[in-house]
Amino acid sequence: MNTHYLVAVSGTPLPALTYASDLMLAAGTRVLVPLGKRQLVGVVLAAIEAPTDAEYAVKSIISALDDAPLWQESELKLLAWCAGYYHADWGRLLETALPPQLRLSKQPTRPAKPLKAPELGQAALVKLNAEQQHASDKIADSFGSFKAWLLMGVTGSGKTEVYAQLINQTLQQEKQVLMLLPEIGLTAPMVSRLAQRLNTEPVLLHSERTNSQRAQVWQLTRQGHPLLLIGTRSAIFAPLPKLGLIIVDEEHDSAYKQQDSIRYHARDVALMRAKQQACPIVLGSATPSLESLANVDQGKLHLLTLTQRANQQILPTMLTIDMRQQKLDGALSPQLLSAVERTLAEQGQVLLFLNRRGYSPVLMCHDCGHTLDCPACEVPYTFHRHAPNLRCHHCGKVEQAPAQCPSCGSSHWHLVGQGTQKVEEALQQHFPTTPVLRVDRDSTQGKDKLNHLFAQIRAGDPCIILGTQMLAKGHDFAGIALVGIIDVDSALFARDFRSLERLAQLVIQVSGRAGRGSQRGQVLLQTHQPHHDFVQSLLTKPYAEIAQQLLKERSDTQLPPFSFSAWLLAEGKHLDRVQAQLEKLLPLCQHTKVQVAGPMPALMHKRQYHYRELLWLQSEQRAALHTTIDNLLAFLQQPEGKVTGVRVFLDVDPQDMP
Ligand code: ADP
Ligand code: ZN
Ligand code: ZN
Repeated sequence: MNTHYLVAVSGTPLPALTYASDLMLAAGTRVLVPLGKRQLVGVVLAAIEAPTDAEYAVKSIISALDDAPLWQESELKLLAWCAGYYHADWGRLLETALPPQLRLSKQPTRPAKPLKAPELGQAALVKLNAEQQHASDKIADSFGSFKAWLLMGVTGSGKTEVYAQLINQTLQQEKQVLMLLPEIGLTAPMVSRLAQRLNTEPVLLHSERTNSQRAQVWQLTRQGHPLLLIGTRSAIFAPLPKLGLIIVDEEHDSAYKQQDSIRYHARDVALMRAKQQACPIVLGSATPSLESLANVDQGKLHLLTLTQRANQQILPTMLTIDMRQQKLDGALSPQLLSAVERTLAEQGQVLLFLNRRGYSPVLMCHDCGHTLDCPACEVPYTFHRHAPNLRCHHCGKVEQAPAQCPSCGSSHWHLVGQGTQKVEEALQQHFPTTPVLRVDRDSTQGKDKLNHLFAQIRAGDPCIILGTQMLAKGHDFAGIALVGIIDVDSALFARDFRSLERLAQLVIQVSGRAGRGSQRGQVLLQTHQPHHDFVQSLLTKPYAEIAQQLLKERSDTQLPPFSFSAWLLAEGKHLDRVQAQLEKLLPLCQHTKVQVAGPMPALMHKRQYHYRELLWLQSEQRAALHTTIDNLLAFLQQPEGKVTGVRVFLDVDPQDMP
């Protein structure tokens, strides 16, 4: 007796397909199915009635790959929600969600050894203070049902200890915990702290794990043993049949947003997952996203705050350095240099932040003004100190800098602007006996380099730490007495409507690194705009107030989170075709409740020889936006809707302009 099944098939852009089998297969089981000449891995979505008017003969499932379903019903529902919300086909969704090994049609000849479930020891928890206890009790009251919490606690307020309490209680109830972090490499100390407190080994899932390790982790978590799974973005899809709690730490971090293929936001998927699996979810941050704060105002998230630093330290003082008319040594003002000198003399550590890696962002001919550009992207190469000197930060192309200007033959070069390498050089000249530790993507390539740098910082000797974005995330460095933000101004004038929100988060997160030890820390902001309203707010207001001010502006201008947005990006070698593609789509947006801007050039208008133009879609009604996107994508599938040589990408709830 054959049963018919609806099967989602990986590696095809097709909708779910119908197959037959004489096996009894539960939804969520992986199967091997034929498609054309290929054999592909699919996932059973449901048993269905035999189709009566099949145009094609229904093919048979070749074999079942799991004895028990990989995902349970509620997890399949989550995937179906993702497919709908991000307008993705099942094939691509499975490619995003399933670890590579679990979608191989040929099973590995030597399957990985099953992992043992971690043992649960006796947890050794600190005593919580009153605020922490209150937060922990409230959240614990919601165990067993869906409730979404925002835990807003200043840096150093002891959010991690609250997590540890809740994780422990969940494990005691023989349930599973999923904890998401923006980036694992940077938070290794937090993982080891949790392991130590809870006296159990967390199971880890992140980009540094091999394919077979990922498959092993999935095979373990699907069995439902009580455990703590800590992972980055894609861990949100891991099977956890006994899920009892989700924690999303540093929820404001844009690393939760996938930037290619299906551009899902792991925090948003996590909220939906908690709902499907009826468990509480905690979003934690010192600087919550405006989206989450708006959700608090709407009653969708429940706010808990930690206002005190757990070890009674006072937050650092914050001052601006007026850069106008200053005699600058590179990017560094005399005031900043003397503050660094003073701090080092007092045996303190200094952290300087500059979000631009490389030596200099532009290499220009001093005689004729010619710039050396990446031919594929038509933007200046970033100059790097080591060969190959010219590196494109957009497409990765590298070249050796020519000795002479290709335009006029001059050999006088002029470097415009400064990156971390140049500032590092200036610091080494000023402080020849002090170690300067540069922390950016170039200096941390290679295994353990970052851990090595962090160990050096934790050793506590006076040093200058100079770094990019990487430094802004949850590290607990006790010895940092001075934080300097080298360039505030570029964010004040950025085109992206989120740039002020990001600047506030960054300044507060980086400042949170100061003065965790025994002394009060100091934060200095270098700016040519010391009287700018927003700079003044940064100095005088707590994050919650700054965020309310930004929310008001977003509300006045009807920008997210007060409207719903998406962009469609068209990419191709011929600009006229790229534009023609978007022009074709425009009429479909008329007479809808969706506002459209474009076609307009993307911020990165050319990348790897491809032109990029976009349509920005925005609506006060989420449903209207999604209906319009459905119509646009359906039209693109039609021969008359598509322009050849152009590819179209979609981002729902974009975090960045492409
Ligand atoms: P956050 O994650 O909010 O930045 P942490 O959890 O890292 O803060 O806590 C900051 C510091 O305070 C850590 O060194 C931690 O051990 C300490 N701490 C946290 N809670 C308490 C408490 N209740 N009593 C004493 N120290 C605490
Ligand atoms: Zn020249
Ligand atoms: Zn390039």
